[in-house]
Amino acid sequence: MESLKNFVGGEFIAPVNGNYIDNYEPATGKVYCQIPNSDAADVELAVKAAEQAYPIWSGMSNEERSKILVRLSEGIEARMDEFVKAESRDNGKPLSLAAHVDIPRAVSNFHFFATAIIHFASEAHPMTGVGVNYTLRKPLGIVGCISPWNLPLYLFSWKIAPALAAGNCVIAKPSEVTPYTAFLLGEVARDAGMPAGVLNILHGEGGAAGDAIVKHPKIKAISFTGGTKTGEYIARTAAPMFKKLSLELGGKNPNIIFDDCDFKEMMSTTLRSSFANQGQICLCGSRIFVQKGIYEKFKEEFVRKVDATVVSNPEDPNAKLGAMVSKPHLEKVLSYVELAKEEGGTVLTGGTRVELPAPYDGGYYLRPTVIEGLSFDCRTNQEEIFGPVVTITPFETEEEVLMMANSTQYGLSATIWTSDLQRAHRMAEKIDAGIVWINAWLVRDLRTPFGGVKSSGVGREGGWEALRFFTEPKNVFVKY
Ligand code: NAD
Repeated sequence: MESLKNFVGGEFIAPVNGNYIDNYEPATGKVYCQIPNSDAADVELAVKAAEQAYPIWSGMSNEERSKILVRLSEGIEARMDEFVKAESRDNGKPLSLAAHVDIPRAVSNFHFFATAIIHFASEAHPMTGVGVNYTLRKPLGIVGCISPWNLPLYLFSWKIAPALAAGNCVIAKPSEVTPYTAFLLGEVARDAGMPAGVLNILHGEGGAAGDAIVKHPKIKAISFTGGTKTGEYIARTAAPMFKKLSLELGGKNPNIIFDDCDFKEMMSTTLRSSFANQGQICLCGSRIFVQKGIYEKFKEEFVRKVDATVVSNPEDPNAKLGAMVSKPHLEKVLSYVELAKEEGGTVLTGGTRVELPAPYDGGYYLRPTVIEGLSFDCRTNQEEIFGPVVTITPFETEEEVLMMANSTQYGLSATIWTSDLQRAHRMAEKIDAGIVWINAWLVRDLRTPFGGVKSSGVGREGGWEALRFFTEPKNVFVKY
């Protein structure tokens, strides 16, 4: 069985402690490779390699770094098929999703920041008759990037690309649940001519390798995407060390549908925003609020369409949903279906596992699930489930739906469906979210600020926001 290796100092090496953990294929439920169970000793090696590489990398011109990052982007593109298959196998997502979303986006992330850095500039603040202030923006040094399993290479590269473009050396850890494409990325970085030690990729569990990255005194910033509880722990650990922190955390996003929406477009997008990637996208709209005038029509058509949605093995071209990422996660999501019933909800469709024939009979498949009849403030409607489970709730007025939408601890994204322009702007302004889509979902422009409010995170990724995060401003005043 294949054993992955850490990528440290430009080489693929075994973990210092020699320990490995099993990596499961969600489509079959079987172990298919082993990954290093790294710890503080590996982080130490990676920091040493990064320290050596830092003067070289940060001393390069933006143009030189840009060229290497463009080659990295092209290197992923050249191995597209291999990356797509690896992502789908590791995560359980349909091949078509990895081919259309995950891997092309990883290519774009590197290309975007490779080119952004050559346009990046800093400010000057002249004081009439006195002098001028100008701001230098320097890389931070060595930074840590920690990412989750739901969009593995997509989110891993979303952090690494701006960190590298800005001149930092990186110690990165993908989720131990989906390590494979990060492992392949090390090969591509090496082949792209990235100097040894600039990008170091460590595999292993959050509590060991991740924790050691967060605690290492020479790692100056942590860019983290993952669960709110983990983010809270990281903030508590890193804050007293005065590390810069970017935290992209959980969500419980409202999808608000008014009577006057374009029904057809709303319906097809709502099917995606509810269940894409088995509902395991932090931006999925898991709380659907529908205005009373179209509630029954919505419910009938939505449930019929969800019922007809194909759940199949990730290689099946007809699969709209593949496998859930892991057995514990499948069980967690199923436990929320039980909770919803205890809280008085009615399961209109789904809520059960899908049994597929061998070799997929041990896979983690779940029917997309629609629940109604719950109060907006019950646990099912307040806690992040992160699976193919949505609730539908009727409402009458804007005020009522705003109150329900804003009632959770989260504030990542929101979707609003209406053809009333004034209402759309009014709602967008009042809703607690870092990202609002009107008559759309998951349309992304990489220049825009990305992140959440409340327990959904601190800071923003994307565009200049990311380059500013990964640089330290220094003001210089010169007297006239
Ligand atoms: P998670 O918090 O369990 O793990 C995320 C990463 O953190 C993994 O690499 C893990 O190994 C590591 N980690 C765990 N404990 C750690 C510790 N003590 N110290 C350092 N690192 C540690 O999250 P997950 O289950 O992998 O991902 C699902 C969550 O991610 C959901 O809550 C989802 O909403 C969130 N998410 C947020 C966004 C966003 O942009 N806001 C995007 C995708 C996913």
